[in-house]
Amino acid sequence: MHHKSNILFFVDAMLGNVARKLRLLGYDSKYFADITDEDLINAAKEENRIIISRDEALVKKSQKIGMRPIFITKDDEMEQFYEILDHVDLDVFQINGNTARCPKCNSTTEHIDRTSIKDMVPKNVYEKNEKFWKCKRCNKLYWEGTHIKNLQKFAGEINERLR
Ligand SMILES: [Zn+2]
Repeated sequence: MHHKSNILFFVDAMLGNVARKLRLLGYDSKYFADITDEDLINAAKEENRIIISRDEALVKKSQKIGMRPIFITKDDEMEQFYEILDHVDLDVFQINGNTARCPKCNSTTEHIDRTSIKDMVPKNVYEKNEKFWKCKRCNKLYWEGTHIKNLQKFAGEINERLR
């Protein structure tokens, strides 16, 4: 299925949970815990990223210069994703280790040979998982048990809404 990887996001400092999930779902999502409104707006504009924010002042500032940010008003994570889906036409969410981005740094990940990381993960993790991925930038390792399976239920519920 086609993945709309051309949609880029810039997530505000209050929504780290949303940024991490979008990254795992394969969406390029910038996030900084410490950034001024001005810097965020300027960078988002320059890189043509959709701002996702809980901060009404930031949302209004960006609207004033013609941007179309997504204003998050809900506390519940699922509801927050529904608010995003009300504004952007994302495909059915796919949980796929090959398109997932690193939740820590937003870089793409690459599939790596299982045997090459044998000594780098706990024995039970190595034995229980077939597939492993490595972040191309920060080298963090991921495997199905952590970043794929945990997301499946969440994505399933979101997909119910998309269908
Ligand atoms: Zn990384």
